[in-house]
Amino acid sequence: MPRSALSVNLLPRLDLALDFVNTLAYRGSTQSESLNSFFDLLGWCATSGALPKESVAELKYWSTRHAENAGALFRDAIELRETLARIFLRFTSDTMPAESDMRALNLALAETPQRTRVAAEGEGYAWRIAIHSISAAAILAAVLWSAADLLVSANRKRIRHCANDQCLWLFVDDSKNGSRRWCSMQACGNRAKASRHYHRTKSA
Ligand SMILES: [Zn+2]
Repeated sequence: MPRSALSVNLLPRLDLALDFVNTLAYRGSTQSESLNSFFDLLGWCATSGALPKESVAELKYWSTRHAENAGALFRDAIELRETLARIFLRFTSDTMPAESDMRALNLALAETPQRTRVAAEGEGYAWRIAIHSISAAAILAAVLWSAADLLVSANRKRIRHCANDQCLWLFVDDSKNGSRRWCSMQACGNRAKASRHYHRTKSA
């Protein structure tokens, strides 16, 4: 698929990059990996909206004929994810990211396809990008743009990680008073409440 025009529905969600980082869960404990292959990566791109379904289908076909390239691309994608993870985790504690990580992000951004054309798409408009060579940066363009947009936006100050230090799930705190603490009340919030209750009743 060397000169294929992919239409990508962007603007990407501001938190798309955080979703990508969260594909490795329980970063503070026994980590749980949901991306174990190039196919997993494509599956995530399809469900998250990082790539349109037709492009995912084309890339699947491409990978069956270029298994080695697909393997290398997958490793690059995971490396990019971990770069983003380190950058955003620094922001949760008001610390500047490492220069080497910002350099890696900027190198990847420079490799993303150019956004030079918008075209009608469904009821709206979308960026129409052309991928000339398949790389992690090209496939993850929407993720990388979302990461950059998040970093330059005021929401940078609202990047949090889950207060369960075994979980460390990243999110943008969109609560009115900026007080959200948990990835979700169902998962970590309730567990913390139950454990507080347990310790209170035990010490009573
Ligand atoms: Zn959590």
